[in-house]
Amino acid sequence: MNTDVAQRLHTVLGSLPEGVRLVAVSKYHPAERIFEAYNEGQRLFGESHEQELRHKVEALPRDIEWHFIGHLQTNKVKYIAPYIAMIEAVDSLRLLREIEKQAARCDRTIRVLLELHIAEEATKYGLSLDDCRALLDGGEWREMTHVQICGLMMMASNTDDKLRIAREFDLAARFFDEVKARHFAGNDNFCERSWGMSHDYRIAVDHGSTLVRVGTGIFGER
Ligand SMILES: *Cc1c(COP(=O)(O)O)cnc(C)c1O
Repeated sequence: MNTDVAQRLHTVLGSLPEGVRLVAVSKYHPAERIFEAYNEGQRLFGESHEQELRHKVEALPRDIEWHFIGHLQTNKVKYIAPYIAMIEAVDSLRLLREIEKQAARCDRTIRVLLELHIAEEATKYGLSLDDCRALLDGGEWREMTHVQICGLMMMASNTDDKLRIAREFDLAARFFDEVKARHFAGNDNFCERSWGMSHDYRIAVDHGSTLVRVGTGIFGER
């Protein structure tokens, strides 16, 4: 059962075109499973709960690059600010300000993605395209010296309708181009398009994804 992790990891890695990186989503799976993937060379992992992540950071090697991929409450930012490599799901200016504040305290620059809400489900977090435009047009982020906006993240609708999923990824990709041209032209740091999970990452890479976040497809059911 354990060697399944290695096998599935290599299957996923083998199916990714060049330029697309894998975030191995390890939430709810124990440190031992993560270590199996680590031993196969995987260094980039995604978690979505602050406490769980804290325990894993303490238990696992230092050279792991951790991405926080879940909804992050502002009062939790201070706990992850000292070590987090990227916060993927920034969905408000308030959260962005708190990341700036805590990153400054740690004398770090934290890379972030803005999370878009494109899927139909009303329960999902994220900025509408208009809210994202407004946040960027507002320009406050330009004054932030400890936060670096590196791209966009989104989840497609949880559906079997592959055409619909493809349309949503495509919308996100076109929105990325719009934002890039308007605010980040010539800024090479703004380059990440984080979309695609276990059931739809193959579609995502056809629609410009640069980071796929795969959990179940590597570690099994949670
Ligand atoms: C859990 C999670 C994933 C991974 O989902 P799988 O279906 O297990 O691949 C990806 N992105 C986010 C934001 C998640 O919370």
